[in-house]
Amino acid sequence: MLRSALLAASRSPRCRSVVERTSTMRPIVDRFVAGSTVDDAVRVAHELAGDRLVSLDRLGEDTLDRAQAEQTAEAYRALLARLDAEGLGAAAEVSVKLSALGQALPVDGEKIALESTRRICEAAAAAGTTVTVDMEDHTTTDSTLEIVRALRADFPDTGTVLQAYLKRTAADCADFAGPGSRIRLCKGAYDEPASVAYRGKSEVDGSYVRCLEVLMNGQGYPMVATHDPRLTGIAERLAARAGRARDRYEFQMLYGVRPQAQREIAGRGLRMRVYVPYGAEWYPYFMRRLGERPANLAFFLRALTHR
Ligand code: FAD
Repeated sequence: MLRSALLAASRSPRCRSVVERTSTMRPIVDRFVAGSTVDDAVRVAHELAGDRLVSLDRLGEDTLDRAQAEQTAEAYRALLARLDAEGLGAAAEVSVKLSALGQALPVDGEKIALESTRRICEAAAAAGTTVTVDMEDHTTTDSTLEIVRALRADFPDTGTVLQAYLKRTAADCADFAGPGSRIRLCKGAYDEPASVAYRGKSEVDGSYVRCLEVLMNGQGYPMVATHDPRLTGIAERLAARAGRARDRYEFQMLYGVRPQAQREIAGRGLRMRVYVPYGAEWYPYFMRRLGERPANLAFFLRALTHR
């Protein structure tokens, strides 16, 4: 219930304006977001790169403005040039949301998103790194996977995300378990109807394990994106059973979430990548994070009522 309410609020312009104007919110936002500028993102990437890998996300989504979509692509290209100049190409990749790159534009949206992401992939290749395409709500899954398939023809290391809460995902994992494919498996962060998604925790977790089995026994590179200690343990055991060396899969967690567990996993010589968002458009991302843990909501409500 609470999670659904927060996810509904993440799409409400009125809630957005209240939360963005609440100055006491900033410390909570800072826990999940690296800062508003490229300098902030690069500073955090350097800090993490001592023991972890990084995926940088320039915050923004759901644009219906072509010029803004093009600016987003250019901002990613500039970020990648900066990562290269800072010697971060081996440690840091980028994550992109196709809805920020024009996917939902009424005319030629998918074509525009494909071409923009292709330009980002070119810059990533020049910087010696990779791009992972985030997954948004289920109405975009087919379109996103189609665009990723087209990108992989020229940039085979382009990764994407599959969400275990969708009933279709075990089949998608099988489709994407071939050589060279990079799949980030997460539970899923949107409010999806029961017609397409599992809604209960145990059903979602069960699907996550089935999907992991497919990916670990496949020929691609699984990226295990969860903070759930039971699932990270299962992933490690499945990888060992499938004979995967430590560099043939990785764990991923979000900036600000279970940092101690991140360090512990990295300290055992396993690959751990941190997803680091930055930029001014933090509101929808932040609201999704609040919905994932009841304790986050308590901090949020305290900040809102003590303005
Ligand atoms: P949960 O069962 O939600 O959480 C397990 C435990 O982790 C909790 O008990 C709590 O201790 C801790 N925890 C989890 N979330 C939080 C939080 N926000 N604050 C504090 N503690 C927390 N979703 C998409 O739909 N599309 C994407 O492209 C996408 N990309 C992602 C990339 C990465 C690297 C990661 C880690 C997640 C991504 N997600 C994405 C979000 C994901 O779908 C889940 O919503 C999120 O990871 C919470 O699920 P969980 O697997 O951690 O399990």
